[in-house]
Amino acid sequence: MHSFDYENGSLHCEGVDIASIAKQFGTPTYVYSKATLSDHYTRLDQAMAPVDHMVCYAVKANSNLAVINTLAKLGSGFDIVSAGELFRVIKAGGDPRRCTFAGVGKTVDELRYALENDIYSINVESLAELETINQVAGDMGKVAPVALRVNPNVDAKTHKYISTGKSENKFGIDFSRIEAAYADAAERLPNVKLHGLQMHIGSQLTSVDPFIEAVKKVAPLAAKLKETYGIEFFSIGGGVGIVYHETLPSGHPDWWTNDSPSASPLTIDRYAAAILPELKNLGLRILLEPGRLIAGNAGALVTKVLYTKKGDAKTFQIVDSGMGDLIRPALYEGHHDIVPVAEPTTDEKETIDVVGPICETGDFFVQNADLPKLEQGNLIALLSAGAYGFTMASNYNSRPLPAEVMVDGEQVHLIRKRQTLDDLIAGESLLP
Ligand SMILES: *Cc1c(COP(=O)(O)O)cnc(C)c1O
Repeated sequence: MHSFDYENGSLHCEGVDIASIAKQFGTPTYVYSKATLSDHYTRLDQAMAPVDHMVCYAVKANSNLAVINTLAKLGSGFDIVSAGELFRVIKAGGDPRRCTFAGVGKTVDELRYALENDIYSINVESLAELETINQVAGDMGKVAPVALRVNPNVDAKTHKYISTGKSENKFGIDFSRIEAAYADAAERLPNVKLHGLQMHIGSQLTSVDPFIEAVKKVAPLAAKLKETYGIEFFSIGGGVGIVYHETLPSGHPDWWTNDSPSASPLTIDRYAAAILPELKNLGLRILLEPGRLIAGNAGALVTKVLYTKKGDAKTFQIVDSGMGDLIRPALYEGHHDIVPVAEPTTDEKETIDVVGPICETGDFFVQNADLPKLEQGNLIALLSAGAYGFTMASNYNSRPLPAEVMVDGEQVHLIRKRQTLDDLIAGESLLP
């Protein structure tokens, strides 16, 4: 579902005009649609209904309290990668007992915090970490529920920076070593409970094939571990990709229909239909950890053209947001459709670069793109910015972080205030 489209000549999010949001809250501002967030969660949850399952939203995609709270109210679990994310889940009314904790570098303090809050599972990424968990749990007089993360050595065929399931990636324990690790833990580590098996092969996958390959390879192992050690769940991770190109329904009337060639080859229904047959007979609870799929197309970043600069080689539209607010283009060649908030009245296009104010050549949102003609003062929206947008934002160049708002029908709610200049220096001090 997609809740951004033109209405009466202006881009709307659900029932709210984005021009009015810019007027009220300024720019740059992240705008999220509550309906889209809810729809994505609900559709995935329903598609997985044939098996016992839990959807654990990957908090790192978008960790605003209002986003977490919206999903918590729908019954979502959460995949966290730090104590900070667990803190957010608890503050937002999420249930720690529905949280799984991933990441290759958990500290003792983080493990302790997770165990204090009785999380569902710690997903273990190395044998050294497992030893530490055993020790921390023992010191606390607890038994830690764990799942080892298997690295299935499957090529996710996504950008190399977001591929995680190959042997050369830092994530998980090699497939060839995983059974020995379970055996060793069962024999030697009394303070861990072998609770599940986990994998996650990468992000922004647009084909179902790598998922099928990974599930086919790992499901027999999960069955064996269930029989030998009584594990209860198999987490197949996240990674389902979204459509980043031509995402406005009015531009692509068939965007919604899952079978359109312009839509992602990987829709919720197709994903579920492909993996369910491999999982149905395991008798294990299936965990899913989607981040981008839930939040990506639920958000847009609204920014304003400050200056137009025509040079010998190029025309630059310089906007008031940059890589500090949305780093995906600079970090891994991420694409965001850019649309004017005022609906273009002609088909006229201009070849432009849309660049930010930051002192880095890599600070661009798009290069050599044919976009509708823009002028100083025009508002534009970078679509599909709901995941890995604000969560990756930084104060580089001492620029305050943007505001975040969530639209719910005809209402718009401020869910994070724009930072002030004072916020920029909070916590800093001079030498005595
Ligand atoms: C990042 C991550 C996810 C979410 O990935 P998406 O591509 O946003 O679905 C899920 N599980 C783990 C372990 C992750 O690191």
